[in-house]
Amino acid sequence: MNPLRVTVIGAGISGLAAAHRLLELSKEKQIPLELNILDAGNKAGGTLSTIENNGFLMEEGPDCFITEKPAGLELCKKLGLEDQLIKTNQTLKQSFILKGHRLFPIPEGFYLLAPSRLWPLMTTPLLSPLGKLRAAMEPFIKVRKDPQDESVGQFVRRRLGREVLDNLAQPLIGGVYNADPDDLSLSACMPRFKEMEKKFGSLLKAMAANRIKKQAQVSGARYSLFVSFKKGMESFANALVSQIPSESMWLQSPVDSLKPTDHGTWEVSANSRSQEVDAVILAIQPAKIRPLIGALDKEWDKLLSGIPAHDSATLNLGFRRQDVNHPLDGFGFVVPSREKKLVVGCTFASQKFEGRAPEGYVLLRAFLGQEAVEQVKAQGESAVLEKVLEELKPILNLRDRPVVHHLATYNASMSYFRPGHLSQVSRIEQKATETKGLYLAGNGLKGVGIPDCIAAGQAAAEKIFQGIQ
Ligand SMILES: Cc1cc2nc3c(=O)[nH]c(=O)nc-3n(C[C@H](O)[C@H](O)[C@H](O)COP(=O)(O)OP(=O)(O)OC[C@H]3O[C@@H](n4cnc5c(N)ncnc54)[C@H](O)[C@@H]3O)c2cc1C
Repeated sequence: MNPLRVTVIGAGISGLAAAHRLLELSKEKQIPLELNILDAGNKAGGTLSTIENNGFLMEEGPDCFITEKPAGLELCKKLGLEDQLIKTNQTLKQSFILKGHRLFPIPEGFYLLAPSRLWPLMTTPLLSPLGKLRAAMEPFIKVRKDPQDESVGQFVRRRLGREVLDNLAQPLIGGVYNADPDDLSLSACMPRFKEMEKKFGSLLKAMAANRIKKQAQVSGARYSLFVSFKKGMESFANALVSQIPSESMWLQSPVDSLKPTDHGTWEVSANSRSQEVDAVILAIQPAKIRPLIGALDKEWDKLLSGIPAHDSATLNLGFRRQDVNHPLDGFGFVVPSREKKLVVGCTFASQKFEGRAPEGYVLLRAFLGQEAVEQVKAQGESAVLEKVLEELKPILNLRDRPVVHHLATYNASMSYFRPGHLSQVSRIEQKATETKGLYLAGNGLKGVGIPDCIAAGQAAAEKIFQGIQ
């Protein structure tokens, strides 16, 4: 039997999960596989990247993943990584929101965009009396009947009022999606809140009825139910890489052309070398798929251009503990966009997870958005470092400069889902089904979280094997 020739483009968590599943299926079904994974970078893992710097363990990209969606944990178990998993610090349960130069706790029970308890919302200094009154009216707001998708921003404004959106939901959602809630699809990004409105007629009632009990117990954006690895998130990628034959992995191999042949296969080109394969999994963002297949026809181009991706950056900052005159009594804080800061959020990394800083030191990690990345390009890293320190100084009462710092930038790595995303994705999926040998994975279709990416990679691998039975 001729081997099935498959190329995976992208060795981030999506591509690695796809490759791992392809190898499993080839073994299970005893179908020989010729696998190649091509990545533009010089190491596998994509945004999962951990570095050790003077005793600090710094995450350049994601610092944890959610356990509630099963794909991440299940893959860890399969890889024998369970004993490497670490929980967030169980003694700290709060996160903060910046207002002026002060940090205020996220009202207890407030989860992403809705409260589960009214009282903490009525007592928070983050809302004015009028804002509180408007939020308290939420159970009396009519259910929207229009089947058309609406934006997350419109939804929160409609149900809880403008202040809840600007002062609470926007910074929390921005900290997860790195995008404006008015440009995010409710059905694609937060379907369960839409369901709550439909089922209960009110978010407050639904949350109070404890429908999402687990999430509501802890306040914060990505600070509850999350796990990481003792040696950092890159361990996850490394464990997958260790299961893939080294001759299958091609680093520093940016794919610059992908063409269908006239006998139903694909020609993949990187570094001026071409391979002919039976199937290709594109485990990269739609924004990066577009230059490869956008020219095949106008509809591909249009569909892929409708799923944009933002640049982002992280700045790890290691301080002597005595130089940060703040209790750091939480997992970190998020910043409303009306504060007009480069910092979108800041994680107290060494408080959130053990083993991130040496004794007597703390590690902070600022998450920076598109604007900061543009400034890095225009003015250089050190100008942005100074601006970020200037912003953090009055908030955390910094007494001295960090002893170490490390900036990482990501180009178009965070796909985001605009209103109408789901219908666009179903058309993309249909079109991919009609295109022999082409499979899509990555963070641009079903979700940006690590478990979503793993599930998308695995699903692409399974479709390939379904196709040959
Ligand atoms: C700063 C940051 C923080 C985040 N925090 C979290 C978090 O805490 N928890 C969470 O669940 N999610 C988080 N996310 C989201 C999550 O990390 C990503 O959605 C996920 O890792 C994407 O994985 P991927 O494999 O789809 O893409 P990527 O990780 O981007 O990997 C794609 C790979 O494809 C390669 N590539 C691109 N184009 C080509 C080409 N033409 N040819 C060959 N190779 C190519 C790239 O080099 C890259 O290695 C974060 C994302 C960022 C950027």
